[in-house]
Amino acid sequence: MTSVSKIINVDQIREDFPILKRKFYGKQLIYFDNAATSQKPKQVIEAIKRYYEEQNANIHRGIYALSEEATQLYENSKRKVAKFINAQRWEEIIYTRNTTESINLIAYTWGRKNLKKGDNIVLTVMEHHSNLVPWQLLSQEKKIKLRFINIDDEGLLRLDQAEKLIDENTKLVSVTHVSNVLGTINPVKEIGKIAHKKGALFLVDGAQSTPHMPVDVRNIDADFFAFSGHKMLGPMGIGVLYGKREILEKMSPFLGGGDMIKQCSLAGCSWNDLPWKFEAGTSNVEGAIGLSAAIDYLNSLGMESIREHEEQLTKYALEQMSDIKDIKIYGPKDTKLRGGVISFNLGNIHPHDLASFLDAEGIAIRAGHHCAEPLMIRLGVTATARASFYIYNKKDEIDVFIKVLNKIREVLKV
Ligand code: PMP
Repeated sequence: MTSVSKIINVDQIREDFPILKRKFYGKQLIYFDNAATSQKPKQVIEAIKRYYEEQNANIHRGIYALSEEATQLYENSKRKVAKFINAQRWEEIIYTRNTTESINLIAYTWGRKNLKKGDNIVLTVMEHHSNLVPWQLLSQEKKIKLRFINIDDEGLLRLDQAEKLIDENTKLVSVTHVSNVLGTINPVKEIGKIAHKKGALFLVDGAQSTPHMPVDVRNIDADFFAFSGHKMLGPMGIGVLYGKREILEKMSPFLGGGDMIKQCSLAGCSWNDLPWKFEAGTSNVEGAIGLSAAIDYLNSLGMESIREHEEQLTKYALEQMSDIKDIKIYGPKDTKLRGGVISFNLGNIHPHDLASFLDAEGIAIRAGHHCAEPLMIRLGVTATARASFYIYNKKDEIDVFIKVLNKIREVLKV
């Protein structure tokens, strides 16, 4: 990591996001639900508009200029993604619908082919359901065991447990890079080393890291890495699965259909080269182009700077929030160890009520189990409220948020 980060000019950035001008109940929108999805800048919206107005054609099929142009745009988008996460080759970038589909793809193809009774997969208690349920389904089918690395009371992973749980029968270790509830940034490189030492493959769920910090899949030495375009300024419906080429080559296809075959007869078919083997049917060209524009936007700010900006915001928010009476904040205190996600509970107010009160002031936060019910059980709660930040959030918004939280506390006398 270099230290040449630029200062983020939030006011200038906000001009690129038309939705941030909206008001609700007469109040300026304060969007603090970025862990669920990010807003989209004009540059992304315009790239998609331009695609439909000027460049739309089905890819890989037409022997005409328009189709070739669309194909180029699609493939260039993969090159951009590969560079963004430092993959060695663009052929290692598979487009899916989202992180969820990327993880399911591995479970269905690699998992079904390579796992047998007696094997185990190691996960953590902080996984999003999308990195839990596919493995539960597989464990029922293949009679394999799932093991879970616990967290300590600060919300940090118990690496001592990882050393014990990952053994010779472990075939896969799958861990979230950043928790969507605690904000914890997990030491994925260390966990990957433990996995590889025991001969297991290593999958990282990058849904909450890729939008917010520099990601280097080769440095992490991830065998698979999954993330979603919609959380990083891109459109919904485009996700990424990165996989090391030699592993992807050996895997069977996921979905069957057009584009994923090399040759086909009634007797059977042979599979196309990477990455097309895993991309059956008409591709989400619009999504790829939107994601490409999103990456351009992120690169223009610099991922180091984005991380720095969010760390400052998180530090500021944590300091202010800690002063609120009866508040319980989850996750690590040290902002070096966490991303811009803050889960909390206020007295005995139900998080849904809290979210409704905040909504009445134009503040959008998330409340519930955040698709991480096992983590809620570990924390001993049924739900939390969650504020999550991105490039366009600013300290003034946090001030309003704190003021409203204090007001809610007073009114409800918790
Ligand atoms: N993993 C994590 C850590 C997430 O936060 C999310 C989204 N909340 C997902 C996976 C799933 O992402 P998607 O719904 O885009 O598939």
